[in-house]
Amino acid sequence: MNTSIKPQPGILDIEPYKGGESRIQGVGEVVKLSSNENPFGPGEKAREAFLKSAHQLHRYPSGDHAELRRAIAQVHGLDADRIICGAGSDEIISFLCQAYAGPGDEVIHTEHGFSMYRISALAAGATPVEVPERERVVDVGAILEACTERTRLVFIANPANPTGTMIGGNEVARLAAGLPDNVLLVLDGAYAEYVEGFDGGASFAESRENVVMTRTFSKLYGLGGLRIGWGYGPAAVIDVLNRVRGPFNLSQTQIDTATAAVLDREHVEKCRRENNRLRAWLAEALAELGVPSDVSCTNFVLARFASQNEAEACDAYLKTQGLIVRRVAGYKLPNCLRITVGDEASCRRVVHAVAQFKEQSA
Ligand SMILES: *Cc1c(COP(=O)(O)O)cnc(C)c1O
Repeated sequence: MNTSIKPQPGILDIEPYKGGESRIQGVGEVVKLSSNENPFGPGEKAREAFLKSAHQLHRYPSGDHAELRRAIAQVHGLDADRIICGAGSDEIISFLCQAYAGPGDEVIHTEHGFSMYRISALAAGATPVEVPERERVVDVGAILEACTERTRLVFIANPANPTGTMIGGNEVARLAAGLPDNVLLVLDGAYAEYVEGFDGGASFAESRENVVMTRTFSKLYGLGGLRIGWGYGPAAVIDVLNRVRGPFNLSQTQIDTATAAVLDREHVEKCRRENNRLRAWLAEALAELGVPSDVSCTNFVLARFASQNEAEACDAYLKTQGLIVRRVAGYKLPNCLRITVGDEASCRRVVHAVAQFKEQSA
C-alpha cells in the first residue's frame, strides 16, 4: 500500500451512510418500511414523463433546469431564479457544506439529526458539532448556545427524521434571528409536504439573508429511486451553489419526471391524505399495544419500546414476518424503531405482528 497517498483530513472519519435494508435472508416477499418511501410511488403523469424521456437519451440534458424550476416556482409561489436543483436534496446539502464550510469551521446538527449533515460536513473538511435535543425535539436555545465564532452552518430538518417531530414558526424565527451574522441556517423540508398548509420554511428562505430551504422528490412524490431535490434561498447563496454544481447534475429524465410530478397536485393530495389517515391509525394501534410514539408530522412513526432489548427483539420478530423497519440506534435512539407508513395492508400487518410479539413476550 502506498502510504503517501492520503485522502483529505476528515474523510476517513466518515461512517458511510447505510440505507434501509430491503432484503431478509430466506424470506421471498418482504414489506419494506425502512426508508420512508411512498407506497404508491409516483403518479401516472410522472410515470408517463419518465417513459417519454427514453426517446431522448442520446441528448445532453438542460443544464439550467429552467423548466423544473419554473414548475416548482409556480406551484409554491417562489422566484424561479432562486431555486437550485440537485441529485436528491443530499446533493444540495453537500453543495452547502462544500461552499460554506472547510477545515477549522463548525457545522451544527442536532442529537438525532439526519446523518447526511455530519457526512457532508466531514467530506468538506469541516467539524460537525452535535447539539442535544429536548425529548426528541430540536432545541433552539441549545443550538444558539452552541454557536461559536467557527460556526458556519446549522442544519435542522423540520419535520425531523428520524423523530418525526417539528418545531413551530416562532421557534424557527427565533433561531434564524438569533444566529451570528456569518452563519447560514438550513431548513431541510424533506417531509414538509406531509404537513397540511406548511410551506417548509419557504417564507424564511424568501425573506431572510441567512436561511436556505431544501426539499426532495424522494418522499411524498415517490421518486426516491430517481434522485431529485431542490433548494431555495437568497440569490447570493444560490449563485454560490450553482458555481459548485456540475452543469449536468440532473438527467433530462430526472428533470422531466420531477416537472410532471410537481404539477400533479391531485396525486400529492391523495398521498398526503392517505398517509396522514394511516399514520394516525398506526400510531394509535401501536399505542394500544403499549408502544407509544411522539405525534408524527411525517410518513413514519418512531415507535418507542421499553428498552433497546425489546426494540431489537421486536425488530427480529418483524423480520421473521417479512416486515423490514428501521433500527435507529445510530441516531441515538436505541429503544426505538422507525416504521414507515405503508399502504393499509402493510400497516395492518405491522400492527398484527407487533401484537403477536407482545403476546409472546408477555
Ligand atoms: C429522506 C431525507 C432527505 C432526502 O434525501 P434525498 O437525497 O432527497 O433523497 C433529506 N433530508 C432528510 C431529513 C431526509 O429524511
